Amino acid sequence: MVLIPLKAKASGITVYNGIDYSSVYDFDYYVSRYPDIAYYFGNDPQGALTHFVTFGISEGRQGRENVVVQTPAAGQGPLSGFTVILDAGHGGRDPGCVRNGVYEKNVNLSIVMKTKAMLEAQGATVLLTRPDDTFVSLEYRYCFENIHPEAVFVSIHCNALARNTSVSGMSAYCYMPGNEKSFDLAACVYSGAVCATGAKDRGIKTLSDLKVVYYSTIPAVLLETGYLSSTAEFPLLTSPEYQDLIAAGITNGILTYKAMSEL
Ligand SMILES: [Zn+2]
Repeated sequence: MVLIPLKAKASGITVYNGIDYSSVYDFDYYVSRYPDIAYYFGNDPQGALTHFVTFGISEGRQGRENVVVQTPAAGQGPLSGFTVILDAGHGGRDPGCVRNGVYEKNVNLSIVMKTKAMLEAQGATVLLTRPDDTFVSLEYRYCFENIHPEAVFVSIHCNALARNTSVSGMSAYCYMPGNEKSFDLAACVYSGAVCATGAKDRGIKTLSDLKVVYYSTIPAVLLETGYLSSTAEFPLLTSPEYQDLIAAGITNGILTYKAMSEL
């Protein structure tokens, strides 16, 4: 089990949303860092040793989700000892964009599973925010990131436009202030995927406010792999062969990132 590497400090808040936080870590830290959506992980004061998140302090919502802690065995290879979290966008009741009866959530998961196999073949430890077609919230996803400080995070999505079938290509999103390695990760993963597929290069958007990159404390990138709304790209994104190319490109990008971080 991995706990975020921040020691508990005396918290002025011990009970919130009816939950006693007196024995858990760093509530103040998260409230100060993330004033709009505070969340928290720690040992469950109700007894079970687990990670959990509560959210919705300023949104007027309240919720609690247990965050599953995964500890898969590490493999042998150039990525041995390196952990990658793969995040298949959407899932369950949230299909993402839908074109011609194809749900984005399923394309995302398919690309993630292919990428997982390729990364593991290189020795990486791979964690998934969702291994199947289940709904997980954005809060769950970024808490999952932040309870794995040793990992890097890659979120996989497809794009769509409402009334345009000609726009195509890849783009990537990251947020760096306080998390400078995110741009390096984005550059490696994005250029790996663009090179492997030959997709149109739409660029990397920095300072993104997408939650899974904005709230991450580990290097994080969200990759938009292409447009399901594109007449040209739809058959590619839904083909196993093209998904293999995307997965291979991401894997190459991770290999480059790891080599770069060791310089
Ligand atoms: Zn999406």
